[in-house]
Amino acid sequence: MKSLNTNVVIVGSGSSGISAGFELYQQKVPFILLERGDKVGGAGKFGSHGVFAINSQQQKDKKVKYGYQEAFEGMTDYNHYFVNGELLSRFLKESGENIERMEQMGLPVTVEQSEQKAHLNDPLVYHKFNNFTEKMANWDKLPEKFEEAGNTVLRQTSAVDLDYNGGLKAVIAEDSNGQKIRINTKKAIFADGGYCGDQEMMAEKYTDTDELLNLGEHKADGTGIKLAKKLGANTQHNPVLFAHGCAPSFQINPMARQSSVETLTNLPLLWLDQTGNRFVNEDVVYDFAMWANAAHNVQGRYYAIVDQETLNTFKTKEINLEDTIERQFCEVGVEPRTTVGPIPDIQADFDKAIQSGEVVKAETLEELSEKINLPLAALKRSIKVYNQAVKNKKDDTFLKPADELLFGVKDGPYYAIIEHCAILGTLDGVNVNRNCEPVKRDGSPLKDLYIVGNNVNGLYSDGYPSYEGIANGFAFVSGWIAAKEAVKSMNNEEVKN
Ligand SMILES: Cc1cc2nc3c(=O)[nH]c(=O)nc-3n(C[C@H](O)[C@H](O)[C@H](O)COP(=O)(O)OP(=O)(O)OC[C@H]3O[C@@H](n4cnc5c(N)ncnc54)[C@H](O)[C@@H]3O)c2cc1C
Repeated sequence: MKSLNTNVVIVGSGSSGISAGFELYQQKVPFILLERGDKVGGAGKFGSHGVFAINSQQQKDKKVKYGYQEAFEGMTDYNHYFVNGELLSRFLKESGENIERMEQMGLPVTVEQSEQKAHLNDPLVYHKFNNFTEKMANWDKLPEKFEEAGNTVLRQTSAVDLDYNGGLKAVIAEDSNGQKIRINTKKAIFADGGYCGDQEMMAEKYTDTDELLNLGEHKADGTGIKLAKKLGANTQHNPVLFAHGCAPSFQINPMARQSSVETLTNLPLLWLDQTGNRFVNEDVVYDFAMWANAAHNVQGRYYAIVDQETLNTFKTKEINLEDTIERQFCEVGVEPRTTVGPIPDIQADFDKAIQSGEVVKAETLEELSEKINLPLAALKRSIKVYNQAVKNKKDDTFLKPADELLFGVKDGPYYAIIEHCAILGTLDGVNVNRNCEPVKRDGSPLKDLYIVGNNVNGLYSDGYPSYEGIANGFAFVSGWIAAKEAVKSMNNEEVKN
């Protein structure tokens, strides 16, 4: 087996891994960065729009009042005290300084109002990448820097095992030809992004796995979590799905913005679950995490129901409803559009989606019930009650605002858009201490190992909270923490020896 030597192995080059690498690079500590893919990046590069922070210089300049107390108490309370308080505290305290670090990394962010309509009045905590395309390009430049300083970046190379005996001896990696590489090292940082790419782990935790539209990092197969568990780390936690938005399919996914079927997905129309009942105030569409949670709660699938008259109205008129995704695609400083339509191509888009299976069309409610397997009585009742709410501009059950009660469902043809809960990853894994070392049930750390980013338990009780940028903010900060602690630990060991 080929053999290499280094001080630190970083597994994964997404947000937490690249951040750990940058710290080691700055401290001139030799490391090897492993990346399963042929490019560096992970969800942090291809997906994320920004990071959460408190007390950044930008926030101080803007005199933002929301600080440590508000964030610590707020998140603890939000998660019903199912949090790792030490870890949460350290993350929050280092999150502000991380913003300046990101600038040094070539990944500058600007504190901006939330991307979500439901959070426009939230405190200014979301720091959005100044330019998404530049972020991707600058991310790719970091490995070059690392390598120029004498470090190694191995792409298409995955960590697969550990040689661990009372302490870390080596990380075992595998290249794309299946060749094993033994990397003798003092420390390893697992920044491999959770487990949403492992179908078995997903199915064990989520009964609606088959319905989920997985927009996360598919290369994240729970390597770090599984290896830490094998060594006795405590992995007990509620499953935490990073549910975020909903969409009909990969072809019509929320990131592509190519079909008006997706536009109608992003509006508070009539939604029915798989039992034919309404299940939520559809205004939740304006809060991505809660919207997806509501869908996850009804087994990951629901139907947006419209009639022909509604399609015709969208075709010719400007409608006073905001497409919830609209804000996400605005670069810093750009004002989003707050109305929808006219959409001249709407019929063509729907006809295409009928062919590809994302939309079901039926002349009658009986036919619709049969085609999507919805109990007819529930379907009829739900539509009747909803039409009444639209007529009276009053939704007694789910309390949808009157100005969103615009479209009843009257005469056929009817259309049902099949909607799936979208996910951006998973957010539970390994219990760690404040230094991001994995811990056993008795709290003792597994020496020489660090677990970061989406692999970590302790920030979320059961779902993604409405603090925008927190997953990615935590990933950057936890990678940084792990690298600092690894260096500190190596320095202490040197003194002892
Ligand atoms: C579309 C999308 C949009 C998002 N938007 C936001 C947002 O706006 N705000 C926010 O806070 N969060 C957002 N997120 C989530 C955020 O990107 C993640 O929480 C963050 O990237 C997690 O960082 P990470 O380092 O743990 O994982 P990642 O950034 O996913 O990196 C993991 C890396 O590890 C590699 N890897 C996996 N297994 C191995 C192995 N065995 N060996 C070697 N390499 C391996 C993967 O290939 C990948 O490159 C978004 C995610 C997606 C998918």
